[in-house]
Order: sequence, then C-alpha cells, then structure tokens
Amino acid sequence: MTAETILSFENLDVSFKTDEGMIKVLDGVSFKLEKGRTLGLVGESGSGKSVSTRCAVQLNARNIRIGAGSRIVLTEQDGTQTDVLSLKPNSRKIRDIRGGEIGMIFQEPMASFSPVYTIGNQMVEAIRLHRDASKKQARELAIEMLRKVGISSPEQRIDQYPGELSGGMRQRAMIALALSTNPNVLIADEPTTALDVTIQAQVLDLMRSLQQELEMSIIFITHDLGVVSQVAHDIAVMYLGKVVEYGSTKEVLKNPQHPYTQGLLKALPNVDHLEDRLSPVGGDIPSPLERPTGCPFHTRCPQAISGLCASSMPAPTQLTDKHEVSCHLLTQQEAAS
Ligand code: SF4
Repeated sequence: MTAETILSFENLDVSFKTDEGMIKVLDGVSFKLEKGRTLGLVGESGSGKSVSTRCAVQLNARNIRIGAGSRIVLTEQDGTQTDVLSLKPNSRKIRDIRGGEIGMIFQEPMASFSPVYTIGNQMVEAIRLHRDASKKQARELAIEMLRKVGISSPEQRIDQYPGELSGGMRQRAMIALALSTNPNVLIADEPTTALDVTIQAQVLDLMRSLQQELEMSIIFITHDLGVVSQVAHDIAVMYLGKVVEYGSTKEVLKNPQHPYTQGLLKALPNVDHLEDRLSPVGGDIPSPLERPTGCPFHTRCPQAISGLCASSMPAPTQLTDKHEVSCHLLTQQEAAS
C-alpha cells in the first residue's frame, strides 16, 4: 500500500535578496511528509532546514524570492490539495493553514507566546481562530490540552503568564498551544535543543505518544542525528540548501551513503566504543555568499573526486524505493556496474 502524502515539497528554490545581491539558500529541495509519520530534517545551521519548512506557512522574511517551479502541496483534512506557495501572503487561507492545518513549535517557546498575556488567553484565542468553539469551550479544551502534555494543575496554570512557568513547562505549554487547534501537520523546529537531557527525553516521549493518539504527521528539525534516530521514521539530510540523502531512518542510519551523512554519524558517540575519539565533519559550512560550484560539499568532503566534484552537481541516485543519495561516488558505481 502506498503511504498517503500530506505535505510534498517539490523542487523548492529559494533566494534571499540582500544588499550584496541574491543569495541562494535552497536549491531544488524535494521531500515528502507521509500521513502519521515523522520526517527528520537534519543538517548543520545554514543547511536550509528551517527556511524550507517556514515556506510551508509563509513565515519567512519579506526579502525571500521563491523560484517559479517550486511547489509545496498540502493535503488538508477534507482531502483538498493546496499549493501553499500559490496563496497570497496574509490571505485568509494561509492564516487558516498557519496554526490550523499546520501547527508549529520552536526551540524558544517565547517565539510562540507573548509575555504580556496569560497562557490561557493565548490558547483560547488560537483555538477560537481555528475551531468553532465558544470562549468557555475553548478554555475547557485548553485545560485538557495542558493536562495532556503533562502540566499539573492546568486549571491554575492556564491563568499564569509564560514567564511564570519553568523552561520545561513552557515547552510543554507551547506544544499544547500548537496541538490545541488539532493540526494535521506539526513542524517542530529544534524543539528540544535548549532543554536538559531529562526534559528532552520527556518531551520526545510526549511527542511520540501524542502523534499516535492524534495521528499527526510531524516534521522534526534538528542538527542532532542522535535525536532524530529516536523520533523519525524517515530522514532528509540537508547540506547548504540541498537534500543530499533521503530515506527511511533505518536505511539511512544503517547504510549511510553520502559522505556528509557518514561524517555526521562518525561525530556521534558510540556507547560500545566510548574510548574512540569523536571525529566531527572537518571544516565549516561555507557562507551562502560563497556557495561552492559543483557538489556543495566538495570543500569539506574527504572523498571528493578531483576534476569532477568541484565542477559538476551530482544527480540523485535511487538506491531503493525509499533511499536516494546525491553523490558522484554513487553515479560512478552505477556506471561501472
Ligand atoms: Fe563528496 Fe563528490 Fe560525493 Fe560531493 S559528489 S559528496 S564532493 S564525493
């Protein structure tokens, strides 16, 4: 049975207009989020993870330019398919989608909450904007969501200001806020990065159980392959605005084929060999202002092929139904076999 695609990113090209000229930040990005599954978007900062997903809710800065052939197709709960990039900014439809069909949680809860209104005020307003509910019903729903994410005494907490909650509790309240509108898709942008490991584990557990209960599809953005291995069914590894490896988490982590994915995995501690030295990916991600020609990873790649990788962009190679890699090593292997 083919999985149902909920959100499909197709050939997304994005540049930012700056004083120095146009800077390309996404170059033909394509990936799919399937119903009820979690897709991990992985890569260092500057790889384009957040820019891609913010395009789905038109939350990027105004100086953004999107390429003509780019599409992000959302399948709504009633089956309607909408290319969100074709919607007018601030139109009723995109406002309905943002926070309605697509919920968002961020690394910093204060990106979602205003400090000057109570948690309850903000949740009731969001619920009433996206769901048909009276004030009383919305408040009851908000309390129920706060309870669901593990906040004790939600009847009292709901009347507190975000600044009165601990960091972990604010993170939970933000998840409750995002889920209170019953979204089909949840975009979680580094939601656990700022948390200590115990709270991080609790939040990941919470997201897993809420996903099962509410049948949500989740895009989980992180720079940490260790975290993504715990939560994601599928992975898209991004580097400098390109998806370089894409597939099921099992396949990508067991059989990584792109030198960048291999490098990210080597940088993770191995519990069986704690004496081994960690080897982070060498060098720094280049500035988008100085985007390398050819394969964007060639300036850091230990396996770069002289005379080829610096001048030619590798095309994606389909290794299995659900494992795709963009690297000349693969195209050469294919040609030789
Ligand atoms: Fe390395 Fe070349 Fe593959 Fe890029 S295409 S990852 S530079 S081997």
